[in-house]
Amino acid sequence: MNINTNYQNISDSYLFSTIAKKVNEFAQKNPDKKIIKLGIGDVTLPLCKVVVESLKKASDEMGVKETFRGYGPEQGYEFLKSQIKEYYASHKVGLEADEIFISDGAKSDLGNILDLFSQDNTVLVPDPVYPVYVDTNTMAGRKIIYIDANADNNFLPLPDDSVKADIVYLCSPNNPTGAVYDKEQLKKWVDYANKNGAVILFDSAYECFITDSSLPRSIYEIEGAKTCAIEFCSLSKMAGFTGTRCGWTVVPKALADGVLNKMWLRRQTTKFNGVPYIIQRGAEAVFTSEGQKEIQENLNYYKENAKIISDVLKKHNIWHIGGKHSPYIWLKCPNNMSSWEFFDYLLENIQIVGTPGSGFGKNGEGYFRLTSFGSRENTIEAVERLDKFLD
Ligand code: PLP
Repeated sequence: MNINTNYQNISDSYLFSTIAKKVNEFAQKNPDKKIIKLGIGDVTLPLCKVVVESLKKASDEMGVKETFRGYGPEQGYEFLKSQIKEYYASHKVGLEADEIFISDGAKSDLGNILDLFSQDNTVLVPDPVYPVYVDTNTMAGRKIIYIDANADNNFLPLPDDSVKADIVYLCSPNNPTGAVYDKEQLKKWVDYANKNGAVILFDSAYECFITDSSLPRSIYEIEGAKTCAIEFCSLSKMAGFTGTRCGWTVVPKALADGVLNKMWLRRQTTKFNGVPYIIQRGAEAVFTSEGQKEIQENLNYYKENAKIISDVLKKHNIWHIGGKHSPYIWLKCPNNMSSWEFFDYLLENIQIVGTPGSGFGKNGEGYFRLTSFGSRENTIEAVERLDKFLD
């Protein structure tokens, strides 16, 4: 056999292992010091009550002959797809149920979708970026070009007509920067894609953090998007499903005359056997009015944490974006420190752990990501330490 040598081109991801190593070393040398982690990209609040009840009820059904379910439809049960359809309708996006495909989360589908595209496509990726887009394309041997996201464009790069790309990744609200495209900006990308015959892979995993109704939560709020975009969404951050696993992908039938929708169905029915019935029942509960109310309480909790962090940065005139419509706060390291210098500085002096921006791409150098997924108590304590230290 010959191995896929493209794997040799993936850069080893040392980011989180280096963070863990530095934190462990510090903790061993300073056992009396309390370290607060504001770097976590995972949710910390538990699943809401209606979801848990629904999961339990579905588990009971599975133990009774009359209600037991075996293989389900690979693309998801109608009961969940119709809830998601309604969810889109609530922000004025009309979809058909067979344009929605239930998945075990956005990460798998973001990688799997590449089965549909030829290897000779050129991929355009904003830098800094969620590393999965780069690694999955590198594994497939595709050419990747980068577009700079930086302070000059508020980390929201716009298309450049002189750049030719076939597959474009956009993530809004963005990980790691928390920046959110407005409708006018997204329209520019949609026009670029339609004009160039490109496809936009739109990652909306954090759309639930958007509260300003003028900002788009789905790319399909933009006229023309159905002929050029595939959207990936997830219940991970929306409803705490990071360990439960459920999301969805929208492949509109207007895209490439329905070819991609048919190909994705074929791909999923061939390589995937669906999300467990029990999990889909849990996901269904998220979209009930009680579920929406309960998840909103959790989202508000994270958003309040983000505000607490943002307020202290404002007080000390530290440039930052994000936090308002995102769990991420992206700040410029003070005194022109590099990302890792600032990491060490915070750990050594006030025992706060964040994520060095340089781990997300070259434009992340000199920046730092904090998240609002910690507990309120820890967030307040971290902010008090920052406040004193930055004085
Ligand atoms: N997309 C982005 C931008 C993310 O940050 C994450 C997770 O952190 C994902 C997708 C993965 O989501 P899921 O848990 O649904 O696989």
